Amino acid sequence: TPDASASGLDVLLASPRGFCAGVDRAIDIVERALQLFGAPIYVRHEIVHNTTVVQSLRAKGAVFVDALEDVPAGAILVFSAHGVSQAVRQEAEARGLKVFDATCPLVTKVHVEVARMHRENLHLVMIGHAGHPEVEGTMGQAEGVHLVQAPEDVSLLPFPATDEVAYVTQTTLSVDDAAAIVAALRARYPHLREPKKQDICYATQNRQDAVKFMAPQVDVVIVVGSPSSSNSNRLREVAARLGRPAHMVDTAADLRAEWLQGAQRVGVTAGASAPESLVQQVIARLRELGARNVRELEGVIEQVQFPLPKGLGARADQTP
Ligand code: SF4
Repeated sequence: TPDASASGLDVLLASPRGFCAGVDRAIDIVERALQLFGAPIYVRHEIVHNTTVVQSLRAKGAVFVDALEDVPAGAILVFSAHGVSQAVRQEAEARGLKVFDATCPLVTKVHVEVARMHRENLHLVMIGHAGHPEVEGTMGQAEGVHLVQAPEDVSLLPFPATDEVAYVTQTTLSVDDAAAIVAALRARYPHLREPKKQDICYATQNRQDAVKFMAPQVDVVIVVGSPSSSNSNRLREVAARLGRPAHMVDTAADLRAEWLQGAQRVGVTAGASAPESLVQQVIARLRELGARNVRELEGVIEQVQFPLPKGLGARADQTP
């Protein structure tokens, strides 16, 4: 039912928002595997953390599993965009599975860093959220990686301050939270070895910057994303820290009219795993609730694209 109090509501769209190059590639890998080899294609973990994407691939014949023991010998398996540990990689090989690896190349870059630091005998710290599959995958690249989730955790690390410590981070962290943890590491470890470039990826950085630009201009922020999506949760937090009520919706059906009560401008963004079609459905729902003008904000134009793994064909603009 239309809400009179929301009539005349303006909608501002953050830019960039939604799909990043790693998500786009991961979904493309599952779709091409289905086309080339037919169903079932097994996928370890949700290919990307979005309910709608997973449902639509499941309808096409993808089978999502958490454990490799649920994949029959000789089947085709796709690793999700979040990446896997060395143990999972070895298990897949031991079971004779044909693997297409949809690990985002920016996550693989962090895996390579961990292996290199391990060879250099440095103490290894990962900054990230416990239980997230990317954290499990990255920590599973070497023995003895210590997880740090908050600045307070730094004082609990078992290494003396004189030792050399190196760190990597999850790619989808809050840029500001990560900076606070790195500051705590620097304070305790004067010989801290830092990555040349932060591990937080371009897409995470750009989407958080876009929310920081949008939030002060609106009364309420809607983030399209699934509850399991790390980067979507961070977008909601960024808006909330700027003092704006911020809500996550998995689909337009989650949008509640009372969130718009008294608002004149609503800002909409989407996590890196949320399809633009869901954003358009949210806008359609906002129009039903009285939104009139929809305006896209200016922002960084992203041109990142990653090639597909071998054996799945080339993209139109991909040099073989
Ligand atoms: Fe890759 Fe960043 Fe997208 Fe994750 S959010 S898939 S690291 S580009």
